[in-house]
Amino acid sequence: MRVLVIEDEPGVASFLKKGLREASYAVDLTDNGIDGLHMAVTETYDAIVLDLMLPGVDGFTILRDVRSRDIRTPVICLTARDAVDDRIKGLDLGADDYLSKPFSFSELLARLRALLRRGQELHANPITVTDLQVDVVARSVHRGDIRIDLSPTEYALLEYLARSAGQVLSRTMILEHVWDMNHDPMTNVVDVHINRLRKKVDNGFDPQLIHTIRGAGYVLRHDTI
Ligand code: CA
Repeated sequence: MRVLVIEDEPGVASFLKKGLREASYAVDLTDNGIDGLHMAVTETYDAIVLDLMLPGVDGFTILRDVRSRDIRTPVICLTARDAVDDRIKGLDLGADDYLSKPFSFSELLARLRALLRRGQELHANPITVTDLQVDVVARSVHRGDIRIDLSPTEYALLEYLARSAGQVLSRTMILEHVWDMNHDPMTNVVDVHINRLRKKVDNGFDPQLIHTIRGAGYVLRHDTI
């Protein structure tokens, strides 16, 4: 899952970037509203964490502009403590949630998970496909009773496949949801990571769950044929 963070306070910004990356999110970060607005309307994100008080273009203007283009990406606003009017204005402009500074990182993660659930079919946790279980809170993966250890990127890739189980995902979709904007678009990074993931998740297990759809991409599903 890929998140855009628009936050100008360096301490909060680096705390968010580090924490979100550790939680297997792909993160793009900007410290100003002009770049933030541009990224929000030109790139694909699963969620946006938006500070309201920003230099250049403020968070309210970003919200208004993004929603006026019918971009429905979930937005969590960061507001100053006691800034009740800002929260109300943010929510009225189309924010989905807010957090007052200072906030606990685990609360931010829980609110992000809640927002990410909304846009999709409501997934119970763990997400289960036959004997594969992806626990999106603990970020742990099992097949049957066997725990599978994955790198943060492998986990992020598997979580995206599992959230979209049954749906064929193109390499572009996978890149947009699992990698941040700093990846090299000319590399075969998706294929490399799919192969690694298969070795861990499918090799030695039955049924095979990660399938290549020639010319289209990849899908995680239980083929019954
Ligand atoms: Ca600020």
